[in-house]
Amino acid sequence: MAHYKTVIHWFRRDLRLTDNVALYDASERAEAIVPLYVASEWEGEHAWTGPGRQAFLCGSLTSLSKDVEQIGGKLVIRRGNALEELERLIDEVEAGAVFFNRDPDPFGKEEEKKVRELCRSRGIDCCDFQDVVLHEPGEIFTGSGTPYKVYTPYSKKWFDEEKPESVERVRAMQSPGELESLPLPKIEDWGLSFEGDLLRTPGEKAAGKRLDRAVEEVIGEYAETRNDPFADATSHLGADLRYGTLSVREVYHRAEKARKAARSESVRNSINTFQKQLGWREFFMAVLHHFPEVLETDFNADWRGLQWDDPGDDEKFTKWKEGRTGFPIIDAGMRQLAMTGYMHNRVRMITAMFLTKDLHVHWKHGESHFMQHLLDGEIANNNGGWQWSAGTGADAAPYFRIQNPWTQTGRYDKEGRYIKRWIPELEKVDPKRFTKPPGDGKPIADDYVLPIVDHGDEREETLARFKAHKEAS
Ligand SMILES: Cc1cc2nc3c(=O)[nH]c(=O)nc-3n(C[C@H](O)[C@H](O)[C@H](O)COP(=O)(O)OP(=O)(O)OC[C@H]3O[C@@H](n4cnc5c(N)ncnc54)[C@H](O)[C@@H]3O)c2cc1C
Repeated sequence: MAHYKTVIHWFRRDLRLTDNVALYDASERAEAIVPLYVASEWEGEHAWTGPGRQAFLCGSLTSLSKDVEQIGGKLVIRRGNALEELERLIDEVEAGAVFFNRDPDPFGKEEEKKVRELCRSRGIDCCDFQDVVLHEPGEIFTGSGTPYKVYTPYSKKWFDEEKPESVERVRAMQSPGELESLPLPKIEDWGLSFEGDLLRTPGEKAAGKRLDRAVEEVIGEYAETRNDPFADATSHLGADLRYGTLSVREVYHRAEKARKAARSESVRNSINTFQKQLGWREFFMAVLHHFPEVLETDFNADWRGLQWDDPGDDEKFTKWKEGRTGFPIIDAGMRQLAMTGYMHNRVRMITAMFLTKDLHVHWKHGESHFMQHLLDGEIANNNGGWQWSAGTGADAAPYFRIQNPWTQTGRYDKEGRYIKRWIPELEKVDPKRFTKPPGDGKPIADDYVLPIVDHGDEREETLARFKAHKEAS
């Protein structure tokens, strides 16, 4: 195996020192490492991110920079086109290789191709590693060698595969002398501002505490409580898995250790249910890898060209985004998202189905809105979740199974605790009133709005659109 005098470690979505495969390998094989992060240079609005996520990124970089310094290195920050910045740095430090962890997103993969080409043209090594997932899309196929389109058989195979072990934390780093570096990025660099507190403390240390909480307090009862949006009994590790402030191997193995140590079958099953969510993450990443067109169009070709309403400046779409639809569960979810950069999974499904099936707005518009607000915004999972809800995706809810927001409320927030948490104007309202439309044509509270649509009518409209499309094609 080659050894090097100086290499570059290109940090991307692996902002940690613990269990970081490429960084660990670099530390074993090089005398000096130049740790680099290249900040993107767009400004203003971005379809795939927003102030909260950029703030989480900035905080995680600040934490990483401190951690790198503590072990003797210095994080180099550059801004602009990653390829150009890497090219410049390769020359500056006379790097013998570039190390990085592979990104599952199509945009990241495009960049990687160019970096491999750059290294080849410079006659240096390009060392890339599997780190972001337990199993890469190329590892899991059906018996006939095709990608899975349905989750359950995928997940069986996924569980059967041996899981990669964690690698050690990098404990020492020698970086070459003074190198030109920009200050740590701030969200103002992207022309953004962010008011309020981030719900999740960014960085590897805080992520470790979240994982401890998840293992000690959440996953043992996960199967039972995860669907209660008020109980908020999920791990909250999404943003850490997105930015790599935690390694997915560590999450899986900590859960597995707890599962093996569990005394009851119900706890073991519950932890298994949690591990299955990591399988969903990798299923959607595999779907995106094998069918990258899902970012542009419906996964299920049968539904391409279905009639959608153009949201344009549509008032209903704006009301959905702002949490003013008059459907308490929808408004609670959308306000939670706006205020915290998070929304409970069950409510993500209900709000997504409402936008696509009650307001007839194409899932792409909701997909982008979520990416701009979710701290855990992950292209593959978000696209998968939206297409699932719209009925157009891989292993999606069939189009005719349209969730009723009123009955969903009765099932998952019967006492209205989640709704009251996010909609103060409903604090004194009897929660029974959240489970059916106001029959008397009057708002359920003075300062709350009437429902903007009739769910029954819109359900019929959706069924008619799907049916007409089916008949015409
Ligand atoms: C419309 C819609 C949009 C979504 N957008 C995203 C997104 O942008 N990013 C994202 O990570 N998840 C997304 N999800 C999936 C899910 O809602 C979140 O992963 C989960 O709510 C994050 O909270 P948690 O970390 O507490 O999850 P937990 O329930 O504790 O799960 C642990 C981890 O497993 C993964 N996971 C859990 N559920 C799913 C799922 N259904 N699909 C894929 N991975 C899953 C996530 O990485 C999550 O952090 C979306 C779901 C829907 C219906």
